[in-house]
Amino acid sequence: MKKILIAEDNDSNYLLMTYILKGHYEFSHATNGQEAVLKALAERPDMVLMDLKMPVMDGLEATRQIKSQMPNLPVLAVTANAFDNDRQRAMDAGCCDFISKPVNAAECLKIIAKYI
Ligand SMILES: [Mg+2]
Repeated sequence: MKKILIAEDNDSNYLLMTYILKGHYEFSHATNGQEAVLKALAERPDMVLMDLKMPVMDGLEATRQIKSQMPNLPVLAVTANAFDNDRQRAMDAGCCDFISKPVNAAECLKIIAKYI
């Protein structure tokens, strides 16, 4: 089973993600951007789901740092803001794609399956 690192600081959003991924993927959890970078390097997941708004280090900076060391690791941006400039900033930081909150289960699984 492929493994996904979920970087999400909000407990209920993380719980929703686990319900969506359960049975399809293994997963682990980071609660801020700095932890996401450390866990990505240590655990070598197949994909990262990256909340863009997190404490300590935001998802954009975490994505840049992860991609500088693991350029082939797909990072999927997850954000509450569906505005075009947020999407562009996520792509500029190195994210492969983008999903908006509230996350739709079918859409989420479909996008993940495009990359891993
Ligand atoms: Mg957040």
